Amino acid sequence: MHVERLWPDTRLRNYHYLVVCEETGEALAVDPFDAPLMLDAARRHGWQITQVLNTHHHDDHVAGNDALRAATGAKVLAHADAASLIPGGIDRGLAEGDVIRVGRSIELQCLDTPGHTLSHVCLFAHADQPALFCGDTLFNAGAGNCHSGDPVALYETFATRLASLPDATQVFAGHDYLINNLGFTLAREPDNTGARALRERLAATGPLDLPVTTLAEEKQFNTFFRLGNPQIIAGLREHFPDLPEEPTPREVFVALRALRNQW
Ligand SMILES: [Zn+2]
Ligand SMILES: [Zn+2]
Repeated sequence: MHVERLWPDTRLRNYHYLVVCEETGEALAVDPFDAPLMLDAARRHGWQITQVLNTHHHDDHVAGNDALRAATGAKVLAHADAASLIPGGIDRGLAEGDVIRVGRSIELQCLDTPGHTLSHVCLFAHADQPALFCGDTLFNAGAGNCHSGDPVALYETFATRLASLPDATQVFAGHDYLINNLGFTLAREPDNTGARALRERLAATGPLDLPVTTLAEEKQFNTFFRLGNPQIIAGLREHFPDLPEEPTPREVFVALRALRNQW
């Protein structure tokens, strides 16, 4: 499996991905906004885009669907419940456990991951180096907003879907928010020296040169995976006096998500 990360330079700092079978050259285009950018990359390398995945229905993840379909005849895949929300509709509605094959060598497992929206999927690749295409559910050092979703559902997704994936899993998120998110980590957990060192090291790094993090690394610097951390809990109790002294992970997550909205 080859993953080509592309940078359309949008205001929202979207990442695009082409997931390519190295045996056949067939490719899955993940979350297209800038279709020409994806088509150019495929053409340059001799890849054929045969499928498009929308992790969810937001415009910056689906706007390139029609152009990719017109240019390649690719099929559009998304959560079955997102079908009516995606302009132009979809060709295959996905549910938990579905398998998406790309060429001969790639099998991606569909995870039903509500929270950012209520019809959001992530794809998990069983490979030598496992990989997760997680849209706006999990960001590098952060979590998606819940303006059109539900923070409790997002917590359940983190706790039941993401936390159980292998530590070596590479995190291919829908946006580049890493450096900004590390600022939130340090606001909540000033003693996180790893996060501080990483932010300093990457401060001047362009989006395509940023490292692809693993879940093991996320657990070190992503506040939304560090729900039992005493410094995080103490800081939250200053903002939310009703938060108990020993809050549940769910209470911590929901409070963090609320605080992140104002940060
Ligand atoms: Zn979104
Ligand atoms: Zn987005």
